[in-house]
Amino acid sequence: MIATINPATGETIKTFEAADPSEVTSRIARAHDRWLSYRTTSFEQRATWLRAAADLLDAEVDDVGRLMTTEMGKTLASAKAEVGKCAKGMRYYAEHSESLLADEPADAGAVGAVQAYATYQPLGVVLAVMPWNFPLWQVVRFAAPALMAGNVGLLKHASNVPQTALYLEDVLRRAGFPEGCFQTLLISSGQVEAVLRDPRVAAATLTGSEPAGRSVAAICGDEVKHTVLELGGSDPFVVMPSADLDKAAQVAVTARVQNNGQSCIAAKRFIVHTDVYDSFAEKFVARMKALKVGDPFDSATDVGPLATEQGRVDVEKLVEEAVGKGATVLCGGSRADGPGWYYPPTVIADITEDMPLYREEVFGPVASLYRVADIEEAIAVANDSPFGLGSNAWTSDPDEQKRFVNDLEAGQVFINGMTISYPELPFGGVKRSGYGRELSGHGIREFCNLKTVWVGA
Ligand code: NAP
Repeated sequence: MIATINPATGETIKTFEAADPSEVTSRIARAHDRWLSYRTTSFEQRATWLRAAADLLDAEVDDVGRLMTTEMGKTLASAKAEVGKCAKGMRYYAEHSESLLADEPADAGAVGAVQAYATYQPLGVVLAVMPWNFPLWQVVRFAAPALMAGNVGLLKHASNVPQTALYLEDVLRRAGFPEGCFQTLLISSGQVEAVLRDPRVAAATLTGSEPAGRSVAAICGDEVKHTVLELGGSDPFVVMPSADLDKAAQVAVTARVQNNGQSCIAAKRFIVHTDVYDSFAEKFVARMKALKVGDPFDSATDVGPLATEQGRVDVEKLVEEAVGKGATVLCGGSRADGPGWYYPPTVIADITEDMPLYREEVFGPVASLYRVADIEEAIAVANDSPFGLGSNAWTSDPDEQKRFVNDLEAGQVFINGMTISYPELPFGGVKRSGYGRELSGHGIREFCNLKTVWVGA
């Protein structure tokens, strides 16, 4: 069902009909027709439209923030911060895309040419399949670079954020992007295959779960179309004896419960050196216990509800199975009665490899604590995961910092900090966290044809 259902109450607010196949086909045709002219527009023109979109987001932050909170339950403060981040990301690409996509000169003499270089050209219509957890930012970080590169976008957003999805199409249109440059398709996941197989669709990007990524990548593999996959994560947060423990514990809480615990780059596994384990655990648990769970519209709330009822069932199951096999709950661990899909901040210790919690991603405010004897064991536990998205290590020892940078199997490593996405930095993962990169120059080049040019005498 494509619907806005308020996670704080469980109330269905608005439902939408999925577009029928003929509507989808005509939208693809419109996108492709538009691309044929849009691809020739200048960087300057595209940047003007993108800056106008950023200005609209800033002006409409209260309404858009409220919409996001209503659709998926993030706190209003974090929803508004996300809107601001999107405006910033748009301005980054408005300013830098031309230089990020500058021609790359080659040694013409070495290849017998008078001129040789590589040039970036847009691919065409790109489908973005996106998740609900950062309903605006996940889309903007695709759309801003893709549009600046001269591509056009089709969005299949998660079924529980249809109004945010429609807002995105609307705001880009009002900013000046011509009709068809960016369209929202209200379709089910079952309708994605037909879009991917349409010859006018050149490539796809998916942010979401591993099964969804596998399905889209398999279809695109069959069609020989380029994909970028940003999938799940179970990021390690390693704490070594030389770390500032108070700061580490404080950041650990934010890193775990941000977005009500539903972030791919949330720290999920806290791997702590035995010398500081007890002290860190005490500080961390005290802070987790002190968090205020409640109405996401209330400015005093730290943690709102989970976005979907099924999401809470999944989290509960992982916790209950672990407890059944001997894990220790240090705080939280069971939901309170009442409406809404709330789950308390939870810390669990004594986790063993036979518990699904050990390997699976927990998409809720549940932290796993591990005690390790030394840096070797810390790295071994950190890497013993199917995922490799972000990673965090806390140590003031420069040699240890180097070890973590070199040996953590992840797309990004943050030393003495938590993983955050920035327009300036590449973002992506290894292993089952996906492939390809978003953001920075790498993100904008993903959906370009790097065309080699050789000019003879
Ligand atoms: P999801 O179920 O995979 O949904 C993500 C998107 O994929 C939605 O639009 C969904 O549509 C669609 N989808 C689902 N199955 C599909 C299929 N078989 N074929 C085509 N499309 C399909 O993921 P989620 O539970 O909403 O989001 C949470 C996951 O996303 C977590 O694993 C999280 O770590 C990951 N994530 C990763 C990043 C990153 O950058 N690496 C960022 C955020 C989230 P419907 O809603 O209609 O099912």
